[in-house]
Amino acid sequence: MTDIISQGRKNLIGLDRTELAAELTAVGEKPFRAKQLWHWIYYRGESDFSKMTTMSKVARPKLAELFSASRPVITREETSEDRSRKWLLGFGDANEAECVYIPEKDRGALCLSSQVGCTLNCSFCHTGTQKLVRNLTSGEIVGQMMVARDSYGEWPSPRGERMLSNIVMMGMGEPLYNFENVSKALKIIMDPEGISISKRRITLSTSGVVPMMERCGKELGVNLAVSLHACTDELRDKLVPINRKHPIKELLSACRRYPGANNANRITFEYVMLKGVNDSDADAKELLRLVRGLPAKFNLIPFNPWPGSTFECSTPAQSKRFSNILNKGGLSAPIRVPRGRDIMAACGQLKSDSIRQRRKKTASVEA
Ligand code: SAH
Ligand code: SF4
Repeated sequence: MTDIISQGRKNLIGLDRTELAAELTAVGEKPFRAKQLWHWIYYRGESDFSKMTTMSKVARPKLAELFSASRPVITREETSEDRSRKWLLGFGDANEAECVYIPEKDRGALCLSSQVGCTLNCSFCHTGTQKLVRNLTSGEIVGQMMVARDSYGEWPSPRGERMLSNIVMMGMGEPLYNFENVSKALKIIMDPEGISISKRRITLSTSGVVPMMERCGKELGVNLAVSLHACTDELRDKLVPINRKHPIKELLSACRRYPGANNANRITFEYVMLKGVNDSDADAKELLRLVRGLPAKFNLIPFNPWPGSTFECSTPAQSKRFSNILNKGGLSAPIRVPRGRDIMAACGQLKSDSIRQRRKKTASVEA
């Protein structure tokens, strides 16, 4: 999404309405044109200025010369046997991130990345083995959505049913460590005159960045998912190292304060099922005790393996027992069906070597 991709022209994707109006005024256009341009870019998905027929005839070539509405470049696109789709996207500076679409019967969720790599080395997560390279910009986050919409031809924004109906911030990176850009991107995605995805259909997943949680709820009002994965600090310190900074008690009290959380709008606790590590009956009972009084539900995620990972997934029988204990305690706790494992698109499997790293590898193979 840099000048390399847009060939020296400024990319407008990722600018908010005020910034878009400022760009237009700076080149002698009236600020009200920003509303029209917004409609073309985010409602119609148009990137060719010559086709933006409500813009004046004089303005169209001028805009085309100065600006672009370019998406990240698709480096690789794969479709799983279960129809999940994964894109490896390049951002013009040798960095790449992955984005995944998970279809359901009459809808589907798009899993967006917020960073290239991640600073938090959760021991069961493939992304965590890739050092943080950088935060993604708001344009690069919105750009992932635009690529997916292009791929499914979902322009203009459908009024009724949509393939791309939900967004989950569960791709690469910790979204609350890049909150400014994530917030700006989600506001663009939620805008009713553009891509128009309601906050009720957006879920942000955090490993537990406690100081940012309240702001996320207040500013965005999106659903919150929290990667809990353990019921004692001793174990969580090892699995999700951010726990050393913000232990379970602090995390759960931030959940209790999360704006907008109530029984109709519960916080999802994600729990990766690791055989012999966190999946005993006693663990399930302790979880019930921990979240008592909280508007909570659980998502039990079978561990998705990756090359070099040392964990094993819990047995189906033990996962079922675990789920039943939570159910009996009054909590919904479905065991998720892994999607896109054959293309390494399932939860926690995303990782992309930077182009530079890949070139180095290729060079050494050739030598
Ligand atoms: N950084 C954020 C969001 C991205 S990870 C977070 O940690 O919440 C999305 C979810 O996938 C998290 O719950 C994460 O713990 C989980 N996950 C990571 N690696 C996994 C793996 N190998 N198998 C199953 N789930 C995994
Ligand atoms: Fe980062 Fe989330 Fe993976 Fe942990 S689970 S390393 S926070 S992406």
